[in-house]
Amino acid sequence: MTVSPPAGFDSRPITPLPQRILLVENSRTFTTMLREAIEQRLELPVSVASSLAEAGALLDAEDDWFLVLTGLVLSDGDRDGVVAYFVERGLPTIVVSSVYDEDLRRRVLQQDIIDYVLKNTPGSLDYLVWLVQRLERNRRISALVVDDSPSARGYAASLLAMYGYRVTEAGDGQAALQALEADPAIRLAIVDQEMPGMDGVELTRRLRALRARDRVAVIGISGNSDPSLIPRFLKNGANDFLRKPFSREEFFCRVSQNVDQLELIGTLQDLATRDFLTGLPNRRSFLERSQRHLERHGAEAGSVAVAMVDIDHFKHINDSLGHEAGDQALRAVAGVLHAHTRPQDLSARFGGEEFCLLVGAPDEDDCTRHFEQLRAAVAALELSLGGSTLRMTVSIGVCRMPAYNCTLHALIAEADRQLYLAKAGGRNRVHGVTLN
Ligand code: GH3
Ligand code: MG
Ligand code: MG
Ligand code: MG
Repeated sequence: MTVSPPAGFDSRPITPLPQRILLVENSRTFTTMLREAIEQRLELPVSVASSLAEAGALLDAEDDWFLVLTGLVLSDGDRDGVVAYFVERGLPTIVVSSVYDEDLRRRVLQQDIIDYVLKNTPGSLDYLVWLVQRLERNRRISALVVDDSPSARGYAASLLAMYGYRVTEAGDGQAALQALEADPAIRLAIVDQEMPGMDGVELTRRLRALRARDRVAVIGISGNSDPSLIPRFLKNGANDFLRKPFSREEFFCRVSQNVDQLELIGTLQDLATRDFLTGLPNRRSFLERSQRHLERHGAEAGSVAVAMVDIDHFKHINDSLGHEAGDQALRAVAGVLHAHTRPQDLSARFGGEEFCLLVGAPDEDDCTRHFEQLRAAVAALELSLGGSTLRMTVSIGVCRMPAYNCTLHALIAEADRQLYLAKAGGRNRVHGVTLN
């Protein structure tokens, strides 16, 4: 999905989102399986009720409810009454039923429920777990609906809101581009083709100049049956297309598929570029980004500095406290490093207990002070480990050079040499050089 902040650096919104799921069912076996699957795979708390009265008592006792999954036939409620009971309380509701009846399905879907899922079919358990996870995650995703027709726009926006997305609406292409610039959290755009001024294909083309395909999924929509429209949308950067009028189920399937794909790409990117233990960028990603940075900004960047940071006597931590404690120590140092990485800096776990930074360094004294502060911050760290307090120090080697005059390889090699000198000089110190 989105490129998330490093693991261990909290990305959750400040106000916690509701978490509890209510299962309302009278068939014990399926309920037990579903409950276990949700609790184990998604780590969300589940409560079970077997009647409307029980469900009501649970709902009144807490206010952390996020979702209801309910059967249709309960001892104290009939088919329509059960659904209305939850929908009228404003709770997102999924109907899980063992009866397939086209008429009933149509009637139930007319109410504001999220889905009607047949249990006891192969895959229904997996589908429900997937659906709950999708709905849970949607709450952190912003979606943009662009349509000049207020009613069509309102319909798509209300569907997205029902599935939990945070929704922004725009009545034309210009407003859409402005909304996108203003909100970097937007991951999904539903774009109508027929709009005055800028049409949907043109908007998609311009949107792509701002956000790549792996950042924002664009779904074109139109009632026009012109066969050239779909390829035009796709060739100009849309991920998918939906023909109006679309059903609620079709809309949700397409939207979910595209958002799933975005998340998958994000996960793969994360796996390829992040260090698993600390969440910092890995060596490969650091080298690639640093190289690009020097190529792009070398001429005007002034001086740059590379710093190699190595934990002192780290092997001793492993040997005396165990490998797991060593891992915790690595994460703690990575946290300090992350906190000292300014938006324009690049930092990484280079390997083992070694970290690397690339920073702009127009002034030599400022540069030295910056790394001296980093050294002091690690030395001030107190890590509680199994009853004792662990303190650590790092040695830092710094090479500063005019950016137009250096290669990344030369910078790193010299920073490494400076690190060796810092170690030889007694550790817990910064040793640096400025080359011309
Ligand atoms: P110096 O002050 O000279 O740097 O000494 P040092 O002990 O820090 O350096 P040395 O290179 O001898 O030891 C580094 C140790 O880091 C050895 C290795 O087992 C450990 N190490 C490397 N990666 C990991 C890791 O991911 N987790 C843990 N727990 N230890 C690691
Ligand atoms: Mg239109
Ligand atoms: Mg070391
Ligand atoms: Mg080392």
